[in-house]
Amino acid sequence: MLGELAVVGGGVVGLTCALAAVDSGWRVTVFDAGPDRRASDVAGGMLGCLAEGHPGEDRLLAISRESTSLWPGLLNRLSCPDILTATDSLLVGATPSDVAALETQMRFLRSELPDDTHRIPSASARELRTLEPALARNVAGGFQAVGEGAVDNRKLLAALRAALDAAGVMQVRAEIDNLADVPGEQILVAAGLDTRRLLPDVDLRGEKGEILRLRRTRWSVAPPRNVIRARWHGRPVYLVPREDGIVLGATQYEAYDDTDRAPLAGGVADLLGDADELMPGLRTYELTEVSAGIRPSSADGVPLIERVDERVTVAAGHGRNGIALAPWTAQQVLPVLAQHSTHTSTEDRGVHHGIDRER
Ligand SMILES: Cc1cc2nc3c(=O)[nH]c(=O)nc-3n(C[C@H](O)[C@H](O)[C@H](O)COP(=O)(O)OP(=O)(O)OC[C@H]3O[C@@H](n4cnc5c(N)ncnc54)[C@H](O)[C@@H]3O)c2cc1C
Repeated sequence: MLGELAVVGGGVVGLTCALAAVDSGWRVTVFDAGPDRRASDVAGGMLGCLAEGHPGEDRLLAISRESTSLWPGLLNRLSCPDILTATDSLLVGATPSDVAALETQMRFLRSELPDDTHRIPSASARELRTLEPALARNVAGGFQAVGEGAVDNRKLLAALRAALDAAGVMQVRAEIDNLADVPGEQILVAAGLDTRRLLPDVDLRGEKGEILRLRRTRWSVAPPRNVIRARWHGRPVYLVPREDGIVLGATQYEAYDDTDRAPLAGGVADLLGDADELMPGLRTYELTEVSAGIRPSSADGVPLIERVDERVTVAAGHGRNGIALAPWTAQQVLPVLAQHSTHTSTEDRGVHHGIDRER
């Protein structure tokens, strides 16, 4: 055994790291405050890499590429086949200037990832509509991102919790106020945006976004098979397939208040308006959920994975890509934790257990 590890935060980052840690020999306990402020619950679940690759974000692109390659292993570990809801993406422009912006992105991707060029072929309007007949007739063109899909993030979280349970990890519903009260030789803080409440020196900012969930009715056309990421008259909008519907997202703007997760009418109207033009058949879907979340973002968009002191490590700041980057994060965290494994029990070190362990 490597030692006792407490993970503070039960979002996708905390749970994925907890699973990797228990699998590599740590005795793990997860402390989580519940779903109210959890970005992982509201997310779209896209495993973005190519479609998220923008000039100036070279490091993030390289990390996303690495994380993408780790996803099959994580899905295999979870052995829950219906987590994956799409395997490919289409990037779609509404106007010639939207397509020109997508082409700039494509040129950047081709220069950064020359080995992946075959995965990002250009697609004419006709080709896009052949791949997704429900797309509007007036799309102008775009490209494909082959092998870049999406997961149902809620099923993913449920599968991670089940795998942790099966591996004997204690999952405690508790809000941690002070890390000194947390048992364990090592602590991993993966508390999303709230990481900065526990560790005020960690530089994070919140980016709020509205996101909607729609369910297919018996009169509806089928959900798309691909993730559709559109640039629609200069604005991003995406449709992520689910078994019974679509996740429609998402707006993005600076959050001035960490507690404000109320969806704004303007954001919802923009999303519905753009998506209605992108896929007219969406009108027959039921609108089942309107929500907003806050992306926990680092200053440069790259996740912060670093040691804070001899007992505490932080993994936070995953911004708009935390689902996609979860397996890479776990891979990075393990060696940092292992460097400080003492192989002694908590009792030996006389650590004060201020929090009762309970399920
Ligand atoms: C609208 C929207 C759409 C998105 N779409 C995508 C997407 O398609 N693909 C993608 O990859 N990413 C997406 N993201 C980003 C992604 O959701 C986040 O990057 C990711 O969920 C961050 O995970 P996390 O585990 O760090 O934080 P969270 O999911 O926020 O989890 C933090 C957890 O810590 C717990 N916690 C906080 N403080 C404490 C405490 N003091 N004690 C105990 N527990 C505590 C909380 O209760 C919570 O459960 C989206 C985000 C938003 C808002």
